[in-house]
Amino acid sequence: MTPKIPAQPLIEIKNLRKVYQTPAGDFTAVNNLDVEVKRGEFVAIIGKSGSGKSTFINMITGIDRPTSGEIMINGAPVHSFNEAQMAAWRGRNLGIVFQFFQLFPTLTILENIILPMELNDLYTKSERKERAMHLLEKVEMTAQANKLPSTISGGQQQRVAIARALANDPPLIVADEPTGNLDSKTAEKIFSLFEDLVASGKTILMVTHDSDLARRVNRTILISDGEIVNEYLVRALSRLTQDQLVEVSRRIKPQIFQPNSSIIRQGEVGDKFYILLDGKADVFLSQPGGSEILVNQLKRGQYFGEMALLGGGLRTATVKASQDAEVSVAALDERAFNSLTKASPQLREELLGLIEKRNIYNQLQMVSSLNQKALSSILSETQPVTFESGHEIIKQGDVGSSFFLLLDGHVDILVKDEFGNEDLVNHLSKGSYFGEMALMGDTRRQATVRVSKGRSAKVLELNVQEFEKITDSSEKFKSDIRKVAGVRRKEIESSRMRKVQK
Ligand code: ADP
Ligand code: MG
Repeated sequence: MTPKIPAQPLIEIKNLRKVYQTPAGDFTAVNNLDVEVKRGEFVAIIGKSGSGKSTFINMITGIDRPTSGEIMINGAPVHSFNEAQMAAWRGRNLGIVFQFFQLFPTLTILENIILPMELNDLYTKSERKERAMHLLEKVEMTAQANKLPSTISGGQQQRVAIARALANDPPLIVADEPTGNLDSKTAEKIFSLFEDLVASGKTILMVTHDSDLARRVNRTILISDGEIVNEYLVRALSRLTQDQLVEVSRRIKPQIFQPNSSIIRQGEVGDKFYILLDGKADVFLSQPGGSEILVNQLKRGQYFGEMALLGGGLRTATVKASQDAEVSVAALDERAFNSLTKASPQLREELLGLIEKRNIYNQLQMVSSLNQKALSSILSETQPVTFESGHEIIKQGDVGSSFFLLLDGHVDILVKDEFGNEDLVNHLSKGSYFGEMALMGDTRRQATVRVSKGRSAKVLELNVQEFEKITDSSEKFKSDIRKVAGVRRKEIESSRMRKVQK
């Protein structure tokens, strides 16, 4: 196999700065910006008005020139071009879409699209017209080809502007608030045109103030006071508003952990919430014997440490920097975390949902040592169910066809004699399972399982196929469950014996 060579990014920006000289003194509009954009990415650039978005974008298009720093696009050193080089390069490599469309008012729609091909001396005369019509078809504007821009709506003008941006088939499209002057329905149409372009291989940088649109692209770059807010922080906390994100970014200090070192330890009191900014982190669960099993690997843009802060207070797992590289995390102390989850119910809800998923995942993992793929496939198909106190989850004598994992609460295991007298043979708590006996040869339920008095119980019910998926993919689970079923059979047996002797 030939080793994979990572493709050169389409855009590489290093240390980009723009300082404006104003009567009041120097004003830094863009400061120390570093960005890489890969081919085929759809990047949204968001931030408050005046944060430097247009200044940034205008340095890419050459409308504005950097005070210092490098801009490499498709291998070209754009920052060092003179005006003539810039114009020639831009004509063939960039499609630009503006907020106010900027079509030539005295040219027809068709002529507007042909113009960039003429200016850059691309294609033959007949090809230009054919190509322009084809592009108009793409944006559903052929019927308007011979009209003047002033006679069509804003949304239609923007569609024409997109067709114009595509005239010379550039790899990169740059758009500054392309939907800023359109109603939301028209904006949606323009956005989906952009999505089609990305699907066809184009790379798009789009400044937008529309957070909902920004959430739907591959990457979001948030600019605050001319600087980029860490992208992985933004990704991890995508539920927050822009203001909240900026506020959090000011409060956190990145911390570095050496490869293999522990960031949090299972059983310890948790007082911080972590967002992974760089590197990978491994999640381990301690097993009763003292050994640790790897249950998950976290990538940048994911967070951890939320379970102790929103749950019982103790760390439920150990998280270590992975072996191969150091890890950078943003740590948020408990107070900051609490004020954040209070300020953002959306974030709180997301965290609670994730906690539930991670809890189930960890428990399944503990009983079965399943690989992550098998686990994920099981968890994608099943939802936990909550039963009230006193509810009979399994009835003795019934034909059994499912297996249960107790995620939370307690259940009693009861055996009835022929006179209907119940004998409590066992009491299970969180992390145990039941229902395996009927799936391992007994067919009829040998005992009743009832939610213990006082509180509800949450269970994950797996059907026979899912149960077999676990037993087939985990030797440990297979042998453990055989042992457990054997012991339980004996417990039930001895309960019956006691009754007979009475
Ligand atoms: P955004 O697009 O995010 O709204 P801009 O990039 O247009 O922000 O502007 C960023 C900051 O730079 C603003 O404070 C703006 O006033 C300032 N600025 C932009 N252009 C100039 C200029 N030519 N001279 C001085 N200041 C400027
Ligand atoms: Mg702007």
